[in-house]
Formats: sequence, C-alpha cells, structure tokens
Amino acid sequence: MNEKATYIVMLGPPGAGKGTQAKILAEKLGLVHVSTGDLFRENLSQETELGKLASSFMVRGELVPDDVTIAMVKERLSRPDCARGAVMDGFPRTPAQAGAFETLLAEIDGKVDHVPFISVPNDVLVERLSGRWMSHSGRVYHALYNPPKVKWVDDVDGSPLYQREDDKPETVLHRIKVYYDQTSPLIEFYRQAGTLVEIDGTKEIEQVTEDLLEAVA
Ligand code: ADP
Ligand code: AMP
Repeated sequence: MNEKATYIVMLGPPGAGKGTQAKILAEKLGLVHVSTGDLFRENLSQETELGKLASSFMVRGELVPDDVTIAMVKERLSRPDCARGAVMDGFPRTPAQAGAFETLLAEIDGKVDHVPFISVPNDVLVERLSGRWMSHSGRVYHALYNPPKVKWVDDVDGSPLYQREDDKPETVLHRIKVYYDQTSPLIEFYRQAGTLVEIDGTKEIEQVTEDLLEAVA
C-alpha cells in the first residue's frame, strides 16, 4: 500500500444520521461505506447462518455478539475495495469492538483518523426512526425530512421502500438504552485518543455534511 488508508468512525445514537452521512462522506472522499447493520441485513435477506443469528438479536434491539461482529468486519475490510480506507457506520459499538478494531488496523498499518460524534436529543431520535423508510440497497429516506420523489418508492431503482422491524417505538427506546449502556463509553475513549469531533446532528442534512467535511479535512 503506497498511500496511507483513511478510517473514519461515525459515532452517535441510533437515528443520529450516521448512515445518511456515511454514504455521502464515503462518496465524496472516495472511501468505502462499511455499515455493520447493512451487512447483517444483507446476510439476513440472503438467509445465511450469520443473518439468522444476527436477526435474533436485531429484532430485540440487542447487539450482535462481539466475536461475530468483529469477524465480519475483519473479512469486509480485507477486500480490495477497502484499500484506501473506510467510513465505518455502526462499528465499533462496544469497548471490546473498539479494542479489536485498533488491533486489526495496526496489523494493516492503519489507524482511526477521525471520529465524528453526531449528537441529537432522544425525542428527535424517536421521531426520525419512526419516519425512516429504507430501500433494499441501503438508501435511507425520511417521510418528512428526506422524502423520496414518489412515496414508498426508491428514487434510484424504483424498488419499494420498507420500514425496519427494529424501528418500532418500543424497540427504538430499547436501542437508545443499549446505545447509552454499551456504546457511549466510546465517546470518552476516542476523546482521550484525540480523534473525536463533536457534530450537531440536529441541523439539516446538507449542513451536517458540510460540518463533517470540515471536521475530517
Ligand atoms: P443512523 O444511521 O444514525 O441510525 P440514519 O442516517 O438512518 O441514522 O437517519 C435516521 C433517520 O433520520 C432517517 O430517516 C434519515 O432520513 C433522517 N435524517 C438523517 N439526518 C437527518 C437530519 N440532519 N435532519 C433530519 N432528518 C435526518
Ligand atoms: P444499525 O443499522 O446500525 O442501526 O444496526 C441495526 C442492528 O444491527 C443493531 O441494533 C444491532 O442489533 C446490529 N448491529 C449493527 N452493528 C453492530 C455492532 N457493531 N455490534 C453489534 N451489533 C450490531
């Protein structure tokens, strides 16, 4: 590898806008968008053993076990398209995953370069997730804040949009709790490492993108 690869970790609660922004950033920076949630959902739609296992945790709003998640990320990052680096979306999500990620990157002479922490208050998160419409190719819409041109239809390939099973209000509240219990310690971890940048996620999507591009420049 000639040029050093760049790794960006999108941190923030469910509904903060990590997926929306990770897609845009990856495209603008020429990096790959690696979403562990999307990878699990792809496995589920292909009915793999990994997909079935992951789904038993996802429907309850629980985290998939660390060993399974880390192995999946390791495999994904080893593929040639990740040679220039990646925008990580939804990983790491526990201190154990963050530690394993450091080790994994050190093996390939990489490191976590930037950790944008997108903060959004809880009431806004619930509203965002209850209006989230997904396409099967991972594009993310919102019924009010980022609507598709035609209701329930993907702008790009015309396929039907769907609501995620785990975006039901009761599961959302549990996912937010899981985030505070298991993921929020990473804020301090990356602050200590000097890579954390706080981003106000309540602004409009385009403004958040501008703030992020400035933060990772
Ligand atoms: P995450 O990946 O962090 O769970 P998403 O990117 O899927 O979050 O965004 C959650 C929902 O909020 C989606 O419906 C998305 O369209 C919408 N959304 C994302 N960013 C904003 C924003 N800045 N303002 C309003 N709605 C947003
Ligand atoms: P997301 O698409 O990021 O909202 O993730 C959806 C669900 O997938 C989560 O609620 C978890 O069940 C699972 N998941 C995604 N990423 C991870 C991860 N890094 N560790 C454990 N579980 C994960």
